[in-house]
Amino acid sequence: MALFAEIPSEGDARRYDIKSPVTLESIGQFQSATADEVRAAVERGRKAQRQWATRSFDERAQVLWSIVDGMVERQDEIVDLVVKETGKALNEAISMEVLAPCMQISHYAKHGKNYLATKTRRPSGVMRFAKKVTLHYQPLGVVGLITPWNGPVALAANPLAQALMAGNAVVHKPSEVTPFSAVLLQEICEKAGLPKDLYQVVQGDGETGAALLDAGVDKISFTGSVATGRKVGEACGRNLIPCTLELGGKDAMIVCADADLERAADGAVRGSFFNTGHYCCGTERVYVPESIYEPFVDKVVEMAKPLTQAASGASDVGAVFWDKQMDIIEDHMKDAREKGAQVLVGGERNRSLSGYYFPPTVVTDVDHTMDLMRRETFGPIVAIQKVRNEDEALELANDSDYGLSGNVWTQDLEKGARIGAKMVTGSVSVNDIAVTYGVAEAPFGGVKESGVGQVNGEVGIRGYCHVHPVIVDTTKKAQGGYPYTEESAEGLRKMVRTVFGNKVLRRLFV
Ligand code: NAD
Repeated sequence: MALFAEIPSEGDARRYDIKSPVTLESIGQFQSATADEVRAAVERGRKAQRQWATRSFDERAQVLWSIVDGMVERQDEIVDLVVKETGKALNEAISMEVLAPCMQISHYAKHGKNYLATKTRRPSGVMRFAKKVTLHYQPLGVVGLITPWNGPVALAANPLAQALMAGNAVVHKPSEVTPFSAVLLQEICEKAGLPKDLYQVVQGDGETGAALLDAGVDKISFTGSVATGRKVGEACGRNLIPCTLELGGKDAMIVCADADLERAADGAVRGSFFNTGHYCCGTERVYVPESIYEPFVDKVVEMAKPLTQAASGASDVGAVFWDKQMDIIEDHMKDAREKGAQVLVGGERNRSLSGYYFPPTVVTDVDHTMDLMRRETFGPIVAIQKVRNEDEALELANDSDYGLSGNVWTQDLEKGARIGAKMVTGSVSVNDIAVTYGVAEAPFGGVKESGVGQVNGEVGIRGYCHVHPVIVDTTKKAQGGYPYTEESAEGLRKMVRTVFGNKVLRRLFV
């Protein structure tokens, strides 16, 4: 049964019905915005943005703090809605969809002003004697925000807070599978005093997303799959607008022979099962040296077996959020089994529950001929491959089209950092699951097919700005120069020789 299905409607508008993966019952319907409606939203956003850009950082921050107040007040409502839409475990709904956004919005309310403060300095080199440069962080205008279904509030609230703090308006196209939590976020923003039209939600599927790309926005902040990311990048290239593309991953975990086994096994379980495995930086591949392979696998099995899965309350592993993802998980498991993988825990869809549930699963005897080790599975699966040593683990970790994040486990922290630095990924964690997105000071983004550009912190919020340098000449006379003569040319040649031909002077002048 499809959780997201088109239903008959009057006129040209496309209407959709959404079912909860928990109960398979309808939780609501929505109508797709047309291309004209999307364009009109961008125009309204542009008008509202002109006013917003004149507000001081303190005034903008005050609205962000009020949004945090609204999220705290309505946290139960947010959690209930997200659990209905996605079926994620209750604790994960609270930590990922309320706690994390509160942390993110608060971060930009407190630090945004500092990240974006106008800065004046003397330039380097000979220019320092004649110029002063001032960098102004100007808002871009209207940002198009396109988000996926695995973190419906978190993945919207974080870029939204950055874009607003930088003085922009936002038009948001949420995932067609989780449309309602964006409406709730918009309501919270409005009640918090965010001026009308600064944050607008346009509902719809890929067609509406594509319309937003061509609706005259000044930047696209996209989070989603590699395939869609490519289309988004192409459209942004055509429209000559910047974009950040936060795409899929296939994160590797390297367990060193000296790792604390208890801690590493716990990391494998958390890293693979968190958010039902629907986590862009979820651990999808685990490489373990043969010297510790058996005790490590035993520990993972021991930790995975008692985990609970239930349709309500505080169970450990939630539903599969979308039937489309269930198909991918089942295909990858089938392919792995046919190629010799051993399933030690779980492995088959959990049909004891009426919704879409795949149990926490542990698989061994996997290798790189299997989709489970090469393509994004996005399911609650710990897939463990035995390797000779840490060198082979690193080589296999880097043998991937993806490069989002990764993690290394060892008691030798310097070695962990050394191995981590050799992983071809956007970021790495040592002795923890991927935490980069939660650390605002750490620029987050993928390499290879996992993305383009980085988000969060200083780098991220400045990405919602045009850095506008104003260069003032501080001398009091005309620069002159004309007419060019042989003497003036010789003067320039002499300057090149004197300054840059002298090993000491050239260092002083740059
Ligand atoms: P998706 O690419 O199918 O959809 C993402 C969004 O793009 C949705 O809102 C969708 O409606 C919209 N869209 C679809 N076609 C479009 C088009 N032609 N033009 C514009 N917009 C279009 O991805 P998904 O299945 O919703 O999300 C899961 C993917 O997101 C996974 O690959 C996951 O790894 C990735 N993800 C990445 C990060 C990250 O930060 N790197 C975070 C979360 C999820």
